[in-house]
Amino acid sequence: MIYPWTHSQWHGLIQRASDDRLPHALIFSGLDGLGKYSTAKHFAHFLLCETPDNEQACNQCRSCIQFNAGTHPDYTSIEPEEPGKQIKVDQIRTLIDGFSLAQHYSKHRIAIISPADAMNLSSANSLLKSLEEPPAKTLIILVTSNLAVLPATIKSRCQHIHFTPPSHDMALSWLNSKHPELASHSNTLLAMANGAPLNAFSQANSEQVELRELIFTHFCAIGLGQQSPLSIENRQLKQGIATPIQWIYSWVSDLIKMKLQQLQSIVNSDKADQLQILAKKVELDGLFAYLDQLIDALRLRHAPLNSQMVMDELMLEWQQASTKTN
Ligand SMILES: [Zn+2]
Repeated sequence: MIYPWTHSQWHGLIQRASDDRLPHALIFSGLDGLGKYSTAKHFAHFLLCETPDNEQACNQCRSCIQFNAGTHPDYTSIEPEEPGKQIKVDQIRTLIDGFSLAQHYSKHRIAIISPADAMNLSSANSLLKSLEEPPAKTLIILVTSNLAVLPATIKSRCQHIHFTPPSHDMALSWLNSKHPELASHSNTLLAMANGAPLNAFSQANSEQVELRELIFTHFCAIGLGQQSPLSIENRQLKQGIATPIQWIYSWVSDLIKMKLQQLQSIVNSDKADQLQILAKKVELDGLFAYLDQLIDALRLRHAPLNSQMVMDELMLEWQQASTKTN
């Protein structure tokens, strides 16, 4: 499915294909919930179709029938064997072994790795060999919402396609058309999803809304020096630590935008008033340093760490970062 806000990326991809300028590896980066994986899969389908028409796969040829049945021999999609776990080196080795065989009948052999940042170091190293000496007619699409986590050696061998959230108005009207029953709080849900419309649905449960409120309250109180870091309990983090870290990341990013007077690109419009107060108190240096610490925490989010300990540590680091003065 191609969403209205990914049209320019889609046309860029079609253009590269028709100009015969496709690289061996692409990275699709940008927030979760923008349709990166869906675009990658749609593109793979389009490239494998024998008789594409008007920028779309025909859905009738032999290749399309196999693709839609999930049995196309020249298409592989790699993801962690369990959600939230790492992509193992054996999965990458199997993929690379498959590349050494001749393609069946298509012009391309295509693999999608998603989320690419779930590759551990051995997996990434194993993939790197393929990227250094790419087999003919292969295309690997790495999909990631955490580009900073991917090794520089991998990033430098890929062409990058970045996905950005739609304008607030486009996102709201799309959300309201798909889920009119959520219209009364679609503004908050969109902010929680950092402006990424597809994630606004997945976060539309009251526990997640309450957890974000709770962490935001701590975040503000600590930032204003009104309270010491408190524990968020493990049971409250049972859906994992990645989403809460991304919320904090987006609050800190908004604080930086406020300090730099880039108010038009604020994501958390539902928290703008409190963030403005906080922005007056904290220094830019501390905010940038804290962003780095959040990236480090995201890097470890697939490792088997205790979520409560990670959150405690992040709140402690926030206390230090927010009291930092020039
Ligand atoms: Zn077809």
